[in-house]
Order: sequence, then C-alpha cells, then structure tokens
Amino acid sequence: MSTHFKRIQRLFLHWFGETALSETEQLAQRLKAIPSTTYQGLRCSSRVTPQAIQRRWDRLCKRSGHSDIQRILWQEPKVQNAPPDTAYQANIENYIGTVQVPVGLAGPLRIQGLHAQGDYYLPLATTEAALVASYNRGAQAIGLAGGCQAALLNEGIQRSPGFVFNNLGEVGLFVSWILTQEASMKAVAESTTRHGQLQDIAFAVEGNHVYLTLDFLTGDAAGQNMVTIASEAVCHYLINHSPVPPKRHYVEANFSGDKKASALAFTGVRGKKVTAEVLLPAAIVEKVLQTTPQAMADYWQMSALGSVQSGALGAQGHYANGLAALFIATGQDVACVAEAAVGLTRMSLDENGHLYTAVTLPSLAVGTVGGGTHLPTQQACLQILGLAGPGNARALAEVCAGMALAGELSIIAALAAGHFTQAHQRLARQRKTP
Ligand code: NAP
Repeated sequence: MSTHFKRIQRLFLHWFGETALSETEQLAQRLKAIPSTTYQGLRCSSRVTPQAIQRRWDRLCKRSGHSDIQRILWQEPKVQNAPPDTAYQANIENYIGTVQVPVGLAGPLRIQGLHAQGDYYLPLATTEAALVASYNRGAQAIGLAGGCQAALLNEGIQRSPGFVFNNLGEVGLFVSWILTQEASMKAVAESTTRHGQLQDIAFAVEGNHVYLTLDFLTGDAAGQNMVTIASEAVCHYLINHSPVPPKRHYVEANFSGDKKASALAFTGVRGKKVTAEVLLPAAIVEKVLQTTPQAMADYWQMSALGSVQSGALGAQGHYANGLAALFIATGQDVACVAEAAVGLTRMSLDENGHLYTAVTLPSLAVGTVGGGTHLPTQQACLQILGLAGPGNARALAEVCAGMALAGELSIIAALAAGHFTQAHQRLARQRKTP
C-alpha cells in the first residue's frame, strides 16, 4: 500500500506551502487532539416522536442555522415540501417516485485531518438497526479522546480501455507509438472536461491484448462519468492515428476495478486513499466501549487472521456498513461500496496500555459535486456535514475514513465484550436481553 513519492509530496506540499510555519509545526498543529472538555456527543435513542426528532434538529440548527435543510429533509406533512420530480431527471430512468430511507445522525466525529478539521455530524441512511448506534458509540469514544487524525495519501480514478491486435508484433508497434503520444493524449482527454486531468498512463500486455490504464484527477467529483467521456475521446484519437489499427477496442476492459474489490486498487488507489488513527486511553475504552484495550487487541488479532484465512482483500470489520449509509445519504454511487469497503484495520496497545487503532482505505470514490450529490435531500445531508459543493471532496474522504474508524472501534468492542448479539436483539428486535 505504498504511495508514490511525487504524489505524497504534492499532497503534503499543498499544506506545508501555505504558511511560513515549519513543516513539523504545521503537521503538529493540524493533527493535534482537541481537549475532550469541548466535546459533547449525541445521546443514542431509538425514539422517533416529533419531539425527539425536533430536539435533534434544534441541536443542529443551533450549531449552524440548518432550518432550511430541516424543511427539505424532515417536516410534517412531508408531501407539501417534496422536491419536484424534475430534480431526479438526470439521475434515474423510468422514474416512478422516491423511496424513503430513514436517516439517523451519529457523531459528531471529531477529526484533525489534512483536509477535514473539526466536528462532523454524520447523516447515515439505513434500515439496519444498531448501525447508527454503533458508529455513534465509536464517534463518542473518539471525541472524548480528543479526536482522530486523518491524512489523504493518494488520489486518482481510472478507466482502462482494451485494444485487440493480430499478434504481439502489432502490440509492440502500438505500445511504442503510444509512448510518444503522452502530451496529445492528455490534451485530447482534457478537452472534454474543465476539472479532469490525465495524470498517469500504464500498460498491461497479455498476448495480443493491450490494457491501457488512464489515471485521472477529477476535482471534487467522484469522476466515473468524467473519466469515461475523456477515455472515449482518447480511444478515438488512438484508433484514428495509430500506425497499426487495432482489430477491436473497448472503452473499459474491466482492468480499472470500477465497482469491484481489486488487488490493484488495494495496492494503489481508486478514488482517494486515506488513513486515520486514534489513541484511546483505557478509561475511555472502559467507559464508552465497555471493554478493555487488551480485550480489543486480542479480538483484533484473531479477526485479522480470520480475514486472511477467508481470502478477503485487506482485513477490516464492517467498513461497508457506514460507507453504504453515508453514500446513500450524500448522493454517492452506492455501488462503489464494493471497492470502497476494502482496507486494513489495526489495533495495538502502547506502552501506557492505551489502545492505538488505525484504518487505511485505498479506494474511496467520493465526490461533493456531480452524480447524486445535487439532489435535494442528498445535498441537505452534505450540508449537515458542512461539505456540500466544490472544494470539499478530500475532506469528505477523510471523514469517511474517520467514520470507518469509529465503526471498527464499536464493532470490535462489542465482539470482544460479548455484547454484539445483545445489541442487535435490543435495537433490531426491540427485546430486552438478560
Ligand atoms: P458527473 O455528474 O457526471 O460529472 C461531474 C460534473 O461536475 C462535470 O460536468 C464537471 O464538469 C462538473 N464540475 C463542476 N465543478 C466541479 C468540480 N469542482 N470538480 C469536478 N467537477 C466539477 O459526475 P462524475 O463524478 O463524473 O460521475 C459520477 C457518476 O458516474 C455517478 O453518478 C456514478 O453513478 C456514475 N458512474 C458512471 C460510470 C460510467 O462508466 N459512466 C461508472 C460508474 C459510475 P467538467 O467535466 O467540465 O469538469
């Protein structure tokens, strides 16, 4: 899971170049825990009375005046304020209406990241009981410990056109010609978009097949449409100018990892690669997570090896739960959870008996513009996060990683303490357990 020298240099210089402070001072300031005395978490409740819901809105509105979002996302009677059907025109075919997915609030998640800074309330759309409670509990533990730290390590989204030739000789001619075409390919690709940039080109040759990987930066959009359109233009340029025309070509030859968990993305990046960490004192583990650092580290060790034996890519507990819920709420392409929910969770004890936990997610294809992010309720959820619109995609990726960290803490604690089944019985079946 290494990151290329130039990419990490570009990402870090972006921050370090901004002020006269030394690099170490800047890093120390951004990634510093904020004392837990300023942190007040949400109480977890299954109540859905108008009063209970209103209380949550009051809390949000008090924070940053969200009354217009409340009108869009929740108000009785809902029908009067429903978004017009035309809002969905560019996002759905054969439209017949909208499905309502309940949205729960978790957090705030306190993050000191390179891009995300502060407390983020997480809007989670799900029908799975115990999910919001679990992420909320993890966020409380993180908040009381002063926050988690997060860093965007790499970014890039790919399309991989495929070209078929008669033989290896033709492949050789094609590849050696392409090696002289980088500037033209970049110009052609970037003529189709204002924000997309072709940042890298790679080849995989298999017999008389050539897979070309075109790697893009896509601004604040997740970028799958953007790179498809740009790659189509590159393909046309190549087949019209190549000294040896391919017999066939495809704009995507299934090498990019789009909507699949792939080893390629795991070792590189697809979307945004982010790591996040937190150090939890034993007292917080005991109070909030109701277990001990040692019990959690012991469980993590067994579960990591269980994951290896299962043949899973990476080793983590349930990234997919929080990511799917946040993706639905904020208009991300929820199918990209297939690739996003891959990564590594690690736990260990430090010399003081505190619990160190880190998560690393290399394939977060997320955006704050484009796709479903402009739809009324999805836009409202991005506003709850404070991350709607341009300039926020990198922060959103760091929030996703912080959220994954919260979820890992909670589920591992529940399994280590033997509370996992009880919690689901209580919250999903509404039953008291012994
Ligand atoms: P998009 O909505 O198709 O495109 C993003 C749009 O936002 C572009 O028109 C872009 O303009 C514009 N834009 C404005 N400000 C921007 C900014 N600051 N940064 C970036 N773009 C900005 O969304 P997309 O992200 O390219 O594609 C995501 C969608 O693709 C999802 O809905 C997903 O479901 C779908 N998808 C498509 C495929 C496929 O193969 N086609 C595969 C998987 C998913 P410019 O282009 O001029 O910069």
